Amino acid sequence: MLDFTRLKKLLNKSQNIVITTHHKPDGDAMGSSLGLYNYLVQKGHQVRVITPTDYPFFLQWLPNNPEVIIYTDNPTESKNKILNADIIFCLDFNALSRINELGEFVRQSSAIKVMIDHHLEPEGFDDFRHWSINACATAQLVYDFIVNLMGERHLINKDVATCLYTGIMTDSGSFRFQNTTAEVHHIVADLIACGAENWKIHQMVYDNFSESRLRFLGHCLLNRLEVFTEYNAALITVNKEDLQKYHITTGDTEGVVNYALSINGIKLAALIIERPDRVKLSLRSTGEFPANEICKKYFNGGGHRNAAGGYSYENLDQTVKKFKSILPDYKTLLVQ
Ligand code: 5GP
Ligand code: MN
Repeated sequence: MLDFTRLKKLLNKSQNIVITTHHKPDGDAMGSSLGLYNYLVQKGHQVRVITPTDYPFFLQWLPNNPEVIIYTDNPTESKNKILNADIIFCLDFNALSRINELGEFVRQSSAIKVMIDHHLEPEGFDDFRHWSINACATAQLVYDFIVNLMGERHLINKDVATCLYTGIMTDSGSFRFQNTTAEVHHIVADLIACGAENWKIHQMVYDNFSESRLRFLGHCLLNRLEVFTEYNAALITVNKEDLQKYHITTGDTEGVVNYALSINGIKLAALIIERPDRVKLSLRSTGEFPANEICKKYFNGGGHRNAAGGYSYENLDQTVKKFKSILPDYKTLLVQ
């Protein structure tokens, strides 16, 4: 492990830095990565953000988004940048399997690896970590890193503030999940003071969908939603024909599961999607119910207590059956 004083010293000299984040990056992944990018470039570093895969259209407006390299579009450049980096920041993930093939390059690279993350059970590939499962978003930890560890609040300019606001907003469900503490609100207020235009950011993220995405949502709610009242659980199942018919692209299915959770009394909501390579599950829960336990135990995944995910190589029907067969085991927790 590297001590912070040494890291700080390194960061006060120009370095080759790569920032990477988990595959299919969400608002927190991109917001924290570009937030850190916009901070580090002000310090004179050579910085690139490299994502393992593409990410939703509604995140492609973030300040300096054109500087992002997508590994699947530029594999050789991505690999070389990672292998030649002095420092690699790993944001919003803590297991190298979450960055697909990039994981092997990060492992091979002699760069110092700095992990900033809020997920459970870090794997331990890092040299320095700023990690807390109590943080509502990695963007919150990036703010804390810049302001309290580096002591550089003056470098939170409008671009940094906009990115970090986006990360906190998206990962906290627009400031409503349980971990949206008073401290989070203070940070968010400070980001607005530093130039984040909250109303514009909400519009860019939440009012930026295609017509077919909205009709897809209607289809899911009308035709694909099952409610299991006896278990306080709900499920939305999406097959590959649905994805084709509504021209679903990266990011279009994000948030759909929350509608199932919004039904009165529902404690566990699932979205099961038949992707080309495997069946993907997204689980959301309320209160103490451990959605991550189900993902870890039955679906090769994990995540947070109230927001978790996993996958299955069984077919869609079998995966749905398996999910339903698990509900009786959790009945006590679900109905209490
Ligand atoms: P989503 O349902 O939005 O895909 O994921 C919600 C959360 O669950 C993510 O923030 C991540 O923490 C976790 N998660 C999703 N998919 C996986 C997975 O395949 N493996 C693990 N370990 N965690 C996942
Ligand atoms: Mn996150």
